[in-house]
Amino acid sequence: MSKPNPNCPKCKSNENVVLVKRIKKAGAVVGGAAGAAAGYAGSDIMAVVGASIGSFIPVIGTTVGGLAGALTGLILGSALGSQVGEQIDEHVLCRYECYNCDHEFDA
Ligand SMILES: [Zn+2]
Repeated sequence: MSKPNPNCPKCKSNENVVLVKRIKKAGAVVGGAAGAAAGYAGSDIMAVVGASIGSFIPVIGTTVGGLAGALTGLILGSALGSQVGEQIDEHVLCRYECYNCDHEFDA
């Protein structure tokens, strides 16, 4: 037999407490979303940098610089996001959930 579940800190019962295992996919989704957000923010910053560089070579430089900046920001953001996702995964891999009161708590 496995060791008994801990008591829920909220309703003090362990009758309906279950171990919830977060699958890797949950973190990947969070990471993907974070990456998209970071990429979006990054692309804005990089687009400004690109546009400033581009301003030395008017018109074409601004367009190319902005586009390159946006792509760089997106790629960097995605890479960052998947790393964040994996770290979140490690932290919430094992949690308990109480079906009595819907409370979630750490092991
Ligand atoms: Zn509870």
